[in-house]
Amino acid sequence: MAKQNISSTQSLVEGLHSLSKNLWWTWNTDALYIFRELSPRLWERTNHNAPWVMADISEQELRARLGDKPFAKRVDAVLTRFKAYMSDKNTWASSKAKSLKNPVAYFSAEFGLHESVRIYSGGLGILAGDHTKSASDLGVPFVGISLFYRQGYFEQKISADGWQQEQYINVDLHRHASELIVDKNGDAVVCEIQIGFSTIKYIARRLRVGRSIIILLDTNLPENEERFRDITAHVYGGDSTTRISQEILLGIGGIRMLRAMGITPSVYHMNEGHSAFLTLELLREEIAKGVPKVKAIQNVAKECMFTTHTPVPAGHDRFNQDLMTYIFGEKAKNFGMTMDELMTFGREHPEDSNSQFCMTVLALKMSRTANGVSELHGHVSREMWNFMYPEKKVDSVPIGYVTNGIHVNSWLHEKTQSFWNEKLGTDWPEHFLEPAYWKKAVDPLSVSDEELWALRYTLRRKLVEFSRLRLQEQYSRYGNGADIYNTVLNPDALTICFARRFATYKRAPLLFTHFEKILSLFNDTKRPFQIVFAGKAHPRDDEGKKFIQKIIEITKHPNLFGKVVFIENYDMNVARYLTSGADVWLNNPRRPLEASGTSGMKISINGGMNCSIMDGWWREGYDGHNGWTIGGDEQPADAHVQDTQDSQFLFEVLSEQIIPEFYNRDANGIPKKWIKRMRHAIATLVPQYSTHRMVAEYVKKYYL
Ligand SMILES: *Cc1c(COP(=O)(O)O)cnc(C)c1O
Repeated sequence: MAKQNISSTQSLVEGLHSLSKNLWWTWNTDALYIFRELSPRLWERTNHNAPWVMADISEQELRARLGDKPFAKRVDAVLTRFKAYMSDKNTWASSKAKSLKNPVAYFSAEFGLHESVRIYSGGLGILAGDHTKSASDLGVPFVGISLFYRQGYFEQKISADGWQQEQYINVDLHRHASELIVDKNGDAVVCEIQIGFSTIKYIARRLRVGRSIIILLDTNLPENEERFRDITAHVYGGDSTTRISQEILLGIGGIRMLRAMGITPSVYHMNEGHSAFLTLELLREEIAKGVPKVKAIQNVAKECMFTTHTPVPAGHDRFNQDLMTYIFGEKAKNFGMTMDELMTFGREHPEDSNSQFCMTVLALKMSRTANGVSELHGHVSREMWNFMYPEKKVDSVPIGYVTNGIHVNSWLHEKTQSFWNEKLGTDWPEHFLEPAYWKKAVDPLSVSDEELWALRYTLRRKLVEFSRLRLQEQYSRYGNGADIYNTVLNPDALTICFARRFATYKRAPLLFTHFEKILSLFNDTKRPFQIVFAGKAHPRDDEGKKFIQKIIEITKHPNLFGKVVFIENYDMNVARYLTSGADVWLNNPRRPLEASGTSGMKISINGGMNCSIMDGWWREGYDGHNGWTIGGDEQPADAHVQDTQDSQFLFEVLSEQIIPEFYNRDANGIPKKWIKRMRHAIATLVPQYSTHRMVAEYVKKYYL
């Protein structure tokens, strides 16, 4: 009897260690609670890093803690559920995508999987992470490829004068979810790429994300020169030489690592043009086999697909001839071309010999199919790249669309999860592909107005308290350590959030264009509203940093202090608080530059609603009753005219619709009309804008 107990404790210990190394725990809260409970302070200090918690706890402590029977029972239940998930043969893909035997190889310069794995910068990475998780949930065989950025993306602090400061922190390999990829002798798998005349060695680390894996390439080896070791230092770091080196490693290096690991993908999916050099490696393999160039290109294109993510011209990577020559040198001949022919191949306008090599052009030419990330973006992309297909009309340019989604379970507050567990039963996350289910889920028979309003209050309170703690810390750094905790933010007030990268086209300060008018709204003490900002500007984007500075300036205005706040260091954790606590999620990009946007999708399951420009996903998501729009479905050609108009539209929708509806209460203080709109938003948006729907669409339209 005693013996059996010991061996089962041993298996729980081992089980917990391997569970901490699979990011499945990030979207299964019963698993996450266990790690948090093991060391609550360390959990907070490490930004919720389960492998770190496990590394800090001795074998002895773990065994002792598992002596607590109810705790051991919970651990056992989680491990059983995890095992069942990992070995489930009865997945969506097992019936809907039977012929997809080999994995989809999904190349992305960043993956946003969890706040503790800092290899992402913004929406592109989050999308890749959510794609990975849904592929796992649906049973779609999936391998992600990216880089192991040892200092990740920067940590943001704001100086007293409102200027963004960037800090980089080294990853601790012994307290990280990834593990070194080794061969059967236990030695690291080492591959090589060439950059100019240098040979660079690299290894790889594996992240487990449920049933999916992600391979992260790393050049940080003592045998490499310092400048090559730094290729994998920062997400989108350095100058254009670093950038092209990162892309060589990702594309060419990625294919070589897959080969070394014996993985044969069924399709190569390029998430944005950063990885398009992979097509040159595939081409080299074909040419080496003796296939003639034209046929070789066709063969490569048969296996590749490409998703483009931005209509902003500067958002498409371009490299000049000198850089390309330095990088490729003599090697163009491996692709069956001279260096000049290679340059011409990647030019937007081949006849213009001064123009640069464009990664999007390469990706488009070397893919059997391409897509944008919303209906409008598909259309804009067809127009944008029409010149490459002069024989085709806009509508027949071969760029379709798959609208983005989010992995719902990664974006709900734990209170939201327990709320729906109680109302719908714990199997509700299995129904994202069934719109009818969600229509029923929000029927007044299954959930009352009072219950929904209580949920909104709970989530707003969580956001307010989280923000107060963060702001207290921020303000004490400026030397005015006065206790501001109870003077900032109001848990009863209509709460609007604006958080995303501070790229200028997203127009963070738009609301304050007509400052006096908006001030009068803020001064209405009977109908208080407040706005929480967060977001990082790219280290080289001074215009974006000026926008942050402008917002910081506004937060200091005597009539706005505590009503307009800026939370530092936007990451997935901050995003989860904001997207769950927001009553209204504000999105006011300059149309049509927001290809899709995904942050607004995260709020629906939490009962928040969108107020957005008719751009990206919202142009399809909005049905007249599930949120609000800023302006209509057309735009003036001139950007400044657009800015002026949109700021006026934003003021109008806020003052004439949103604020009055929020404060239109019945005798019990319930905003009936608001909640009706909320129900409709959940029913129409939750199933449609999940990555389950998105991945299923990629499988059906493209992967199969
Ligand atoms: C969702 C998310 C984004 C994307 O926001 P958009 O509004 O779609 O640009 C960026 N950063 C983080 C941390 C996110 O969670």
